[in-house]
Amino acid sequence: MSFHEPLHRRKVLKVLLLITAVSGVIFFILNFQRGLYPLAFTELAASAYSLACYRSVSVTSNLKAWTLAYLIPFLTVMMFALAQPRASDTVFVWVLLIPQITYLLVGVSLGFAITAFYLAIALIIFIYRYLGGDTTQPVSIANVVLCTLAVWSFAHLYEQGRARYNRRLLQIAERDPLTGLLNRMRLAEIVETEIRNSAARGQSVAFILLDLDHFKQINDAYGHPAGDNALIYVTEKLQSVIRKTDYIFRVGGEEFCILLPGADRLSGSDVAENARRALEGNGFFVDGEAVPFTASFGVAVSGCDGSNLIDLYHAADQRMYAAKYAGRNRVVFDDVEVTETPVF
Ligand code: GH3
Ligand code: MG
Ligand code: MG
Repeated sequence: MSFHEPLHRRKVLKVLLLITAVSGVIFFILNFQRGLYPLAFTELAASAYSLACYRSVSVTSNLKAWTLAYLIPFLTVMMFALAQPRASDTVFVWVLLIPQITYLLVGVSLGFAITAFYLAIALIIFIYRYLGGDTTQPVSIANVVLCTLAVWSFAHLYEQGRARYNRRLLQIAERDPLTGLLNRMRLAEIVETEIRNSAARGQSVAFILLDLDHFKQINDAYGHPAGDNALIYVTEKLQSVIRKTDYIFRVGGEEFCILLPGADRLSGSDVAENARRALEGNGFFVDGEAVPFTASFGVAVSGCDGSNLIDLYHAADQRMYAAKYAGRNRVVFDDVEVTETPVF
């Protein structure tokens, strides 16, 4: 399930389907007894349609399409009921549900458009139906219109606020506050989606894991705040060597991973090599003093090294440790026998 899909929408739609399935049957009986046959059978059909939708809505991965496939006929049937000359006067109370339901189900932009459209139709029907009668007195129209506008405004403001807080919470949950990079939360989802998309184009993805060398010494020598600034500096350097379509994640204290959709072993290793060079270039200063530091890189590629995050991570991690073992400040992109003496 996508983290961006509001979790409550499926539930709201299912409850609405049950309510309309039951009320459709009740109104079928009531309107049939009153001799309003077209309305009665329309409501029975709406009830059957609601039940038919219920099963699909429980399992579909395209909730939005099903929501619209239900919502538009539901609101249209409501307008049809309002327009019946012999329908009860209180049928208009259902109109107050329109903003609530649409904003809950489809969010602010589409909710606004659908609400405005159907409320305008409802208003025309209301005026036309009671033309010349008592309810078209200004005070009656003011009651109906102002109460509906109040309900609409609150539905709009509530959904706007909820969506804004949701975006903010998501941002807090999936981003590292120090560097602003993505954290591990969506790593598996993004890596696996990009593997699938690249595979569909006959391409691979490159997955680079890097760990700063002897980073503890920077903290020890210059203090933790300087270490934090170094991590921000590393982020900027890594960002300077990737394309807009690539991703950088901070996956641990001083461990990062770079995902390159559409890249093979050669281009993945090139990007890792560019990043390695960018970092070792003595561009980080503490109190005017250049602080040299470096990083070790492991590169894995989808297809040959695996087709999911666990396999790619494992391969890149092994190679990153091979790079450490071989003396640090290097890129390893293949399974190599490490023969050099480790440098600690
Ligand atoms: P190696 O080359 O073997 O990777 O050595 P290292 O010192 O980089 O590795 P080690 O795992 O021993 O230490 C990582 C250090 O990173 C420990 C910790 O103090 C530091 N660190 C982790 N997260 C942060 C952070 O958010 N800010 C700062 N300033 N330091 C951090
Ligand atoms: Mg380290
Ligand atoms: Mg580490």
